[in-house]
Amino acid sequence: MKYLFLVFTCLFVSFVSAQTDAEILKTIYKTSLTNGNSYKWLDHLSNQIGGRLSGSLNAEKAIEYTKEELQKIGLDKVWLQPVMVPKWVRGAPEFAFIETASGATTKVNICALGGSIGTPFGGLKAQVLEVKSIDELESLGKENIEGKIVFFNRPMQADLIQTFEAYGGCVDQRYAGAMEATKFGAVGVIVRSMNLRQDDFPHTGSMTYGDIPVSKRIPSAAISTNDANLLSSMLALNKNLKFFFSQSCQQLNDVQSYNVIGEITGSQFPNEYILVGGHLDSWDLGDGAHDDGAGVVQSMDVLRLLKESGIKPKRSIRVVLFMNEENGLRGATKYAEIAKQKGENHIFSLESDSGGFTPRGFSFDCSDTDMNQILSWKELFKPYLIHYFEKGHSGADVGPLKTDTNVLAGLRPDSQRYFDYHHAANDTFDAVNKRELELGAATMASLVYLFDKYGLAN
Ligand SMILES: [Zn+2]
Repeated sequence: MKYLFLVFTCLFVSFVSAQTDAEILKTIYKTSLTNGNSYKWLDHLSNQIGGRLSGSLNAEKAIEYTKEELQKIGLDKVWLQPVMVPKWVRGAPEFAFIETASGATTKVNICALGGSIGTPFGGLKAQVLEVKSIDELESLGKENIEGKIVFFNRPMQADLIQTFEAYGGCVDQRYAGAMEATKFGAVGVIVRSMNLRQDDFPHTGSMTYGDIPVSKRIPSAAISTNDANLLSSMLALNKNLKFFFSQSCQQLNDVQSYNVIGEITGSQFPNEYILVGGHLDSWDLGDGAHDDGAGVVQSMDVLRLLKESGIKPKRSIRVVLFMNEENGLRGATKYAEIAKQKGENHIFSLESDSGGFTPRGFSFDCSDTDMNQILSWKELFKPYLIHYFEKGHSGADVGPLKTDTNVLAGLRPDSQRYFDYHHAANDTFDAVNKRELELGAATMASLVYLFDKYGLAN
């Protein structure tokens, strides 16, 4: 009897310690899909708080809420890291129309770009010059541009399967369009929304004036894709038409804000950090559900899923909810600065900031040796249809943590519909699918588990 008990005990102990990685991943996915918390958190962030632009009251509410929720899941430490952030306010709703003759107007949908100045009180009306690129603008010169509103209308390239590439191929118009047009005496800038779909939503996003003095700056706004097409076709018929827009946004002084941080302290290597994060701020037009509420709640749930799945990490696992990714990256810069000061060794940092859609895999910023180790784990993800393991861009918020030896990564969800919602009023809770969100959280937690178990390859 005693012998039998001993055999049974040995079998049980070896069963637990010999649980394979495949079995552990299965537990993580099951926990996320049957007992996840990401969707509930996203519901609150989107529907009870809403858009969380840096420096806004909603951003403050989101800091308080996520801090309290992280405390509830029983982490070893939860704290706020102070950071000063820019505060830009949209003011009254924007208004715009196309005027073909005196009194003949067609209303169009626009929104101010983040960081833009307002129009003069009472609005701004001028003739329009349509261009497809900054190069084309430069080739036309001051004589064709002065006194006009420049309309940047290069669409996102439809045949690129990676829609982030199409975004990257267009976003210079939004970011630098006003700065460049100012040099040629333009009075305003209208930019086609960064959206592959034809619809009526204007999409905001950050823009810069570079070192152009405040007195010379011109207002810039995004126009919906439907209205960009309308404006372009009306210009083809009548190049003397006028465009009117009015916006009252302004840049205020920097204000105090915070990154929200939680940690499970490692049992064996507490000073080796594995970070998982997203950005807590969002644009103000929608609720920031995909960008980046999804990444925030997935990152929070990674730590919870590890605990719920009975995993006790050897290394310290941190969730960081970065403030001010959208219009300044101040939170990420501050986090990396403090981590460096404290000599914290961040071996692996994973960001989710590409929407809450079905996960496909990850892109990695790492050495070949580390990539080979990562590829040796690829088979484990096969049952979950996770197949994309490529070298590439990780994420804006983890970027400042890069060293010669560590690994950075970004979750790569399916990106086909991401730009339907990105920075627009329709980026709301209903646009996020519960299962897709939970699969993303489980996929992230699985990779975190593997990095905790095996560490870096070199
Ligand atoms: Zn984002």
